[in-house]
Amino acid sequence: MIPNWLLKRAALTPHAPALTFQRKTWSYLQLKEEAADRAGKLRALGLERGSRIALLGGTSAEMALLIHGCLLAGVEMVMLNARLTAEEIEYQLQDSESELLVCEEAFRNQAKQQICQTIVYDEFLQLERESFPLEQMWEEDRTLTIMYTSGTTGFPKGVRQTAENHTSSALSAVLNSGLHAGDAWLHMMPLFHISGFSILARAVLYGSEVRLFEKFDASAAAEEITTGRVTGMSVVAVTLERLLTVIENNKLTVHPKFRTLLAGGGPVPVSYLKRAEQCGLPVLQTYGMTETSSQTATLSAEDALRKPGSAGKPLFFTEIQIDGADEPFDRGEILIKGPHVTKGYIGKHTTAEALQEGWLHSGDIGYFDDEGFLFVADRRSDLIISGGENIYPAEIEAVLAEHPQVAEAGVCAMASAEWGAIPAAFVVTRSPINAESLMEFCQTRLASYKLPKSFHFVDELPRNASNKLLRKELREMLTAEK
Ligand code: AMP
Ligand code: MG
Ligand code: MG
Repeated sequence: MIPNWLLKRAALTPHAPALTFQRKTWSYLQLKEEAADRAGKLRALGLERGSRIALLGGTSAEMALLIHGCLLAGVEMVMLNARLTAEEIEYQLQDSESELLVCEEAFRNQAKQQICQTIVYDEFLQLERESFPLEQMWEEDRTLTIMYTSGTTGFPKGVRQTAENHTSSALSAVLNSGLHAGDAWLHMMPLFHISGFSILARAVLYGSEVRLFEKFDASAAAEEITTGRVTGMSVVAVTLERLLTVIENNKLTVHPKFRTLLAGGGPVPVSYLKRAEQCGLPVLQTYGMTETSSQTATLSAEDALRKPGSAGKPLFFTEIQIDGADEPFDRGEILIKGPHVTKGYIGKHTTAEALQEGWLHSGDIGYFDDEGFLFVADRRSDLIISGGENIYPAEIEAVLAEHPQVAEAGVCAMASAEWGAIPAAFVVTRSPINAESLMEFCQTRLASYKLPKSFHFVDELPRNASNKLLRKELREMLTAEK
């Protein structure tokens, strides 16, 4: 059994700061009381332990309180991505058999649907709460959250994440990064994505503070980091780059209390890691996914400078294998096992086996070096096979990102009659440069078969709500250009 996180935490350290949003701070006791209020309101609506409800809204204190309220009430949360269209929302509500949608007012139009009852925040907050005994303990296999991930084809899959999944993930993470008195995590990720939800989960287990922001803001992040208000933060490649630019341009000094800039969600160019080192920003790369309830391998602070580009070693409770690899540096699909790995999908994908002989097939290609450090190359489905050679878009993106005038780059496959596929590059520049000079830059750094065959200058790259690059949309942009 696992103790009900927030009940236990509020009993242990009631007065420790739990959550800060727009200058207001809640202690763990206050957080528990507010969450218990939300739980009582869910109860008043007829929801019980095991009922499924969907949440839709931006990042706000109310969303965080609702999430904690759902946990206290024992209902299963379907975390809807705030960028979904009305149709996608309908699909996920139907597939998850949600009984209720709690929705922020601003999302009301998006959430017009006939599948289940909808209630907006204001109406919800006016409900009378019904009191009921809060459960002190959770079974390991209890579902806490459901998050939909889209594969490259077909309908999104609802991933079931249990109490054990989230708890073991948080424990693995802290065994790697350590816990200090006064730890506070800067939260600028979407709450509905595992990267954002797991920050809340870790904080409540550790008794540390979450400093929550509506969205990523490079200047605000730099301020939090340089004034010592936070000791850790999660980023993806593009937000790391924007944060670095602010720190570099203003010659800011990172506060000595700041220990961990956790960078994941996709490949991070090594040139960003080098710039971070110059700035005194301690970056730890991490590898994880919705199906592993966040981190599965993470670099440790000791190894960060020695192993740039590695996602570290499998965390304490994790086993990782490279499919078909016989020796170090052999590449193959990354297979994952451990208590943090999902037990399966829900709805229409219930019958799809998440695991094969106990192993989750990640769909990512990677390798271990001779010291057991994991390197994640790229998604298998983004691999460009050109005249029989494997090309990893992330490798080309990393080279382009080294160019001083390149802010961001995205690479995808372009059809070629001669080679099957060839790489095409999309670039956001800081100041105008031409394709020839970019080509020259690449020629000294990449084998000729990896050279982008076309350059496309754009104002921004297509990204999802977690700021991850959407290579599928790059491919669509190429087709549209023709
Ligand atoms: P999601 O399920 O949305 O969390 O996305 C998980 C996917 O992000 C993984 O399957 C990888 O393709 C990618 N990813 C996460 N971390 C890394 C990393 N450190 N390096 C490369 N790709 C990553
Ligand atoms: Mg995935
Ligand atoms: Mg650059």
